[in-house]
Amino acid sequence: MHEMNDIEAHRERLLSLAYKVAPELRSRPLYLIHITELGTQRADKGVIGLAGPVLDLACRHAIGDRWIGRGWCIVLADFRDAEGTLLHELAHLLDGNMPWTELQTVSPDVVGAVVLDDIKRHFTDYKPPTYDPWHGASFLRTLMHLWHRAQEFGLYVSGRELFPLAELPLHQLSAATRDEAHRCRHQPFSEIVARPMPRRFRKVFLRRHGSRQGEIHDTH
Ligand SMILES: [Zn+2]
Repeated sequence: MHEMNDIEAHRERLLSLAYKVAPELRSRPLYLIHITELGTQRADKGVIGLAGPVLDLACRHAIGDRWIGRGWCIVLADFRDAEGTLLHELAHLLDGNMPWTELQTVSPDVVGAVVLDDIKRHFTDYKPPTYDPWHGASFLRTLMHLWHRAQEFGLYVSGRELFPLAELPLHQLSAATRDEAHRCRHQPFSEIVARPMPRRFRKVFLRRHGSRQGEIHDTH
């Protein structure tokens, strides 16, 4: 029982951080799931966080009474010290690359079961893909904005917590995004990512990734 209360308290704390750094997330439900609520645990080779457009269907049984309709969903391996992982997963939801799919033509039960297996596999035995389209320029720009916003709220998260395992010039990317992040701190991300990237950010990004935007090899 104690453990359960613990999970609820952490969930509330993390949700309030999410709404602070990105108020537009309130436009639809946002569910945060602890991996143990799916009846499994993270193994050494597993990811520590996952976000996706149909995770809510897969986690519906774990969401239980909190379900208020289709929404964003993030699964975390741990709720303690999870701020960095949360910001990372939020960047996936906000960077403009996450398709918001209602999948109305497919049975939610079928989708849910398939995705649930996939989630469990990610948390127990994740093999990084050689081509990773998910951590490209738009993702990193969004992540840097969230990092700056969290700092403005007095929350310091290390680069390692934000993006473990990836060897990225996060502090350079952060410095290259600082002006834009401050200027746009009250703007929704849909507007931010629709505008051209700051020139300095683009330069740092291309120096690291060449012209293959979006192709970043990492394991998170
Ligand atoms: Zn990621």
